Amino acid sequence: MEVSKKNRYIIAFSALLVVLLLLFAFLRDRSHLIDARTAQNLIENSLVEDAKIDGAYLYFRSGTERYRVPKDAIDLKELYKTTAVAVKEPNPYLADLITIGFLALLVIYLLRWARKNRELKEQQLNEQIQFASELQRPSDIKPMVSNITFKDVAGINDVKEELEEIIDFLRHPGKYLNFGIRMPRGVLLVGPPGVGKTLIAKAVAGEAGVPFFYQSGASFVQIYVGMGAKRVRELFKRAKAAAPAIVFIDEIDAVGKARGGMRNDEREATLNQLLTEMDGFEDSSGVIVIAATNKIEMLDDALLRPGRFDRRVYVSLPNKEERKSILKIYLANKPYHLDLDEIAQMTVGFSGAALSSLVNEAAIHALKSGKKVIEGEDFLAVKDKVLLGKRKILTYSEEEKRIQSAYQAAKAVTAYWLDVDFDKIGLLGDNFQRSEKEIVSKTDMMNRIKVYLAGDAMMHLHFNEHYTNAANDLKEARLIARDMVEHYSMVDRFGAAAAEEEKILMEAKSDVESFVARAEEGIMRLADEIIRRETVSREDVKELLNEIF
Ligand code: ADP
Repeated sequence: MEVSKKNRYIIAFSALLVVLLLLFAFLRDRSHLIDARTAQNLIENSLVEDAKIDGAYLYFRSGTERYRVPKDAIDLKELYKTTAVAVKEPNPYLADLITIGFLALLVIYLLRWARKNRELKEQQLNEQIQFASELQRPSDIKPMVSNITFKDVAGINDVKEELEEIIDFLRHPGKYLNFGIRMPRGVLLVGPPGVGKTLIAKAVAGEAGVPFFYQSGASFVQIYVGMGAKRVRELFKRAKAAAPAIVFIDEIDAVGKARGGMRNDEREATLNQLLTEMDGFEDSSGVIVIAATNKIEMLDDALLRPGRFDRRVYVSLPNKEERKSILKIYLANKPYHLDLDEIAQMTVGFSGAALSSLVNEAAIHALKSGKKVIEGEDFLAVKDKVLLGKRKILTYSEEEKRIQSAYQAAKAVTAYWLDVDFDKIGLLGDNFQRSEKEIVSKTDMMNRIKVYLAGDAMMHLHFNEHYTNAANDLKEARLIARDMVEHYSMVDRFGAAAAEEEKILMEAKSDVESFVARAEEGIMRLADEIIRRETVSREDVKELLNEIF
């Protein structure tokens, strides 16, 4: 903004100069001075036209050239005989007046320009002072120095790989800017609680050696109106002052929950401020925002648009191998005698955070029992205690594993078949990604419903039973159907919402039932694979299906 103001001044000033130069060129005397003899010759040969006396000179044209000659040096009478001569009353002041006028204008203009410039500078200085004092003011928005690196984060190698480029950018921003490469402004880490999203963000800061600003989404949405937006502004000011830097916003859903439904002006103002700040980044600002959420579906679409959180990284619960390496990290400084494979096996569904407290509890248990080393029985003894503290995390019985793996496999195969994007699917959880498309077709939405109904259809087909594990998926399917009817009116008949939803769901159900019946063999093969490896990727599903069909 300041730059463009300055530019305007420069343009106006140059325009003025050009006008002056043109005037000067136009008014300039372009005649050649010649001596009296030549002039006299021309006069006598009647080669003189447009003669004019102006001041002390006689001006005339001869051919295409203009000449002047001191009027007292020639015989004017001779001239009068051959041609008419205009006499211009000399006005010695006119030229001076014009010059003075222009100079005056120029001076006034320059003075005004200087004043404006000074005002602008003062304003900038004031802003800087205000900003500096704001930064000086005690505040809980402070950068942290992170000494955590990727060595402290076990497993999740694919996540690390995805973040490598961002770390390199933070380390050598110049390299990327020279090539005009635009770096993502926001990275969204999506995954259940305790899988290490905060840890990962800290590790990115630690690896890159840049300051780390931590804020939880909830801390923005405060009691006083307007505080949230103000806090966001302050956060970004401080981050830019410390750039290159990382801003980490934990539980961004507190701010970025999809709008609509119950209005909440405060949250909306905060969200808008966040969007404004992210849009206002210059590519060279060197600030990267990392945010964490466990429910991407809940987020406002505005946050996911290009230039905002356009990079998403899915972090899932650790699989067996990953659990083993997390256990190793937390056991590293403790004496133990354990079969780590066995511990990893029995901790299905444990997040990194749960594993860390499990190791701690086991160590306490061993100590209390007067042992020198931690043993398997210490883990067994405290496992349920740790589990009880964690909602939703459960270890399945063998029977439950069979059910759940078939359920998840049916979803995976259907999703693969119908082109519903997902990254990985496991015993616990899936991450069907939201469509990246701006315009989603009715077919796309139907396909998503079918995926959510596939598990239940498989249960009915294979076990002739329905189970409670379908609850969430059935809810998702219903929500999509409702959206299709209420939001997008993808209906045959208006006005009968409930009946139209029912129709959509029934149609999807019958389609997916016949699909899983045809794909049963493949689904069960995949289910075995899921039991064995806990999670499978889209690629694995593809390979397996290619083998069968
Ligand atoms: P989230 O932000 O996803 O809720 P956190 O990053 O807060 O999870 O993780 C909580 C704690 O769990 C971490 O501080 C760390 O001790 C442990 N933890 C989680 N995942 C891992 C992991 N992959 N490797 C090592 N420790 C982990």
